[in-house]
Amino acid sequence: MTVSTTAEPSSRYLADPGHGTAFTDHLVTARWSADTGWQDLALGPLRELSLHPGTSALHYGQAVFEGLKAFVQQDGGVAVFRPRDNAARFARSAARLAMPVLPDELFMTALDLLVRADAPWLTDNPQHALYVRPLMFASEVNLLMREATEFTFVLMAFVAAGYFGDGAGPVTVMIARDHARALPGGTGDVKCAANYAPTLLTQRRAREAGCQQVVWLDPDERRWVEELGAMNLFFVVDGALVTPRLTGNFLPGITRDTLLALAARAGYEVRERPVSVDDWREGCRSGAITETFACGTAATVTPIGRVRDGDGAFTVGTGNEGPVTAALRTALLDAQHGRLPDVSHWLHRID
Ligand SMILES: *Cc1c(COP(=O)(O)O)cnc(C)c1O
Repeated sequence: MTVSTTAEPSSRYLADPGHGTAFTDHLVTARWSADTGWQDLALGPLRELSLHPGTSALHYGQAVFEGLKAFVQQDGGVAVFRPRDNAARFARSAARLAMPVLPDELFMTALDLLVRADAPWLTDNPQHALYVRPLMFASEVNLLMREATEFTFVLMAFVAAGYFGDGAGPVTVMIARDHARALPGGTGDVKCAANYAPTLLTQRRAREAGCQQVVWLDPDERRWVEELGAMNLFFVVDGALVTPRLTGNFLPGITRDTLLALAARAGYEVRERPVSVDDWREGCRSGAITETFACGTAATVTPIGRVRDGDGAFTVGTGNEGPVTAALRTALLDAQHGRLPDVSHWLHRID
């Protein structure tokens, strides 16, 4: 499918789409009940949902979501980046919350329907993408505290520009010392709604301290760096690329996995291993750590310039974006926009 840059809808949000308000005009919905399984998968106009106040998910948080993006390709077509990985993670999240699993093929059918309908919202502005948000929630009207027997799946999309605003330079981050994001054996490694509300107070404290994001530490020792807001972290240590090894407490990001592959392909040494706050601070002081960046579907690759920890603070490298961060962001965008050979079959074309 070729993108029309003259389509009326895209011009409305061209100036500043932000992240999460420039919704397109379609919606896919499907329903599940214990008796019938999945049914009524359909594309329709974007509309409001009418919910009974006793809808279970509003009270008990049985809700999971995903986030993936569609990009204009080099040849003018449209492709979604690694959607089967999002489908698999959506299924894992749902299973962890005792929810029904949406089969991959239904996920992909819904995605094709929505992106085909809303591709005209994509512009050829390289900063813009179509962010697609799958959501599944317990729609049964019943306040008995048990797993629900009726669920609703919705798939919506919005036009997304940069997560931190256009031209955002390095961000300043705050290490969370008072709160933990996850607990051992909890849900830190799945994308469920309940993981996010408890982080907002910490996020507010960070903002009040002049920081844009929160660094979460491991919930056991509060010593190991795990992730940043809804992003994973990478460090450039003695020229090698290091990212925390998956612990089960934080999200296995698809961008993280992509960057590990792209960096290895580009000839960097890549290592997954634990990184402590002490390692990070000392590495920055000694010069062993020259760069730190965060990555995720929303934020792509964002450099971290300065770190606040209680009353102290330290600067990463020069405090500006480093060359490895810049090279990996370019490689990621090139892969997403079809400017590299798609050797790993990451691109799902929409015809
Ligand atoms: C979504 C998310 C990420 C990044 O995952 P991607 O698949 O790269 O978008 C990282 N951490 C958290 C907590 C998230 O919710």
